[in-house]
Amino acid sequence: KLYNQVQDLKGSIRVYCRVRPFLPGQPNRTSSVDHIEEGNITITTPAKYGKEGRRSFNFNKVFGPYASQDEVFSDTQPLIRSVLDGYNVCIFAYGQTGSGKTYTMTGPKELTERSQGNGVNVPDANLVPVSSTSDVLELMFIGQKNRAVGATALNDRSSRSHSCLTVHVQGRDLTSGTILRGCMHLVDLAGSERVDKSEVTGDRLKEAQHINRSLSALGDVIASLAQKNSHVPYRNSKLTQLLQDSLGGQAKTLMFVHISPEPDAVGETLSTLKFAERVA
Ligand code: ADP
Ligand code: MG
Repeated sequence: KLYNQVQDLKGSIRVYCRVRPFLPGQPNRTSSVDHIEEGNITITTPAKYGKEGRRSFNFNKVFGPYASQDEVFSDTQPLIRSVLDGYNVCIFAYGQTGSGKTYTMTGPKELTERSQGNGVNVPDANLVPVSSTSDVLELMFIGQKNRAVGATALNDRSSRSHSCLTVHVQGRDLTSGTILRGCMHLVDLAGSERVDKSEVTGDRLKEAQHINRSLSALGDVIASLAQKNSHVPYRNSKLTQLLQDSLGGQAKTLMFVHISPEPDAVGETLSTLKFAERVA
C-alpha cells in the first residue's frame, strides 16, 4: 500500500544502490565509500577524478556492505507482489564486473556453481511453463550455462552478456473473477566497466563497445521516462526493444546499481553512481 502511494507520487522508477563488502582473505585497505545513510551515499574521490574530496549521491535506498539478502529482498517484495496485481516489472542489476550484481539477483551461490510478443526476436529464447521454484532454478541454471562468458583483465569469469529471466504470471481476482496478467523481468546486466582499448582487441573490443552502447541506450530510456519526455528512444538497442512493454506506461522499474568498496575501483564506482543519478 505505502509502496504504491509512494509510486503514485514519485513515478514508477526507483533506483537502489548496494555496496558489496570487501571479500575475505585480502590485505586491509580503506573503502572508497565514506558514508551511507538511508538514501544517500558519499564516496571519497582522489584528486585525479576532479575535485578532490567527497561526492554525495541520493537514491531511493542505499544498502551498505552488511545488508543481508533478506533485507534487500523484503524491500523489493511489494514490487514483486505487484506482478500478481497485473503490473509489468523490470528489475535491473547494473555495475562493474565483481560489484555484486549476480549476488543480488541469484543469491550467494552462483547458479553456475551448483551441481545445485513485440516482434523482437531473441535467438533461442524459450518460454517454458513452470510449477515450482526448482523448475525456475533449473531454467536459470541452463541460462547461466549458456551465457557468454569471456576473460577480461578484471575477472576471468566476467559475464560479457546481459541475462534476462522473464516470469509471466496469470492470476484471478477471487472476488471479481477478473484475470490479471503481469510479468517480471530480472535482468542481470553485463559488466558496465569501460574497457581499455589497449587491453582488448578484435571481437572482445567489439563486444565491449556493444555492451557499453546497450547500457547507455538503457540509461537513455530510463532517464527519459524519469523526466517524462514524450519521446522515449526504445529503438536504440535490442535490450530496450525487447523490454519496451515493461518500461514506461503502467510498468514499474527498479534499477539496482552495485558498487565495489575497492579504492582502486573508484573510477568505475563514480561512473556507476553518475549513471544511476541520471536515471533516478
Ligand atoms: P558481478 O555479478 O557484478 O560480477 P558477483 O555477484 O559475482 O559480481 O560478486 C562478486 C563476488 O563478490 C562474488 O564472490 C560474490 O559472492 C561476492 N559478493 C557480492 N556481493 C556480496 C554481498 N553483498 N555480500 C557478500 N559477498 C558478496
Ligand atoms: Mg555476474
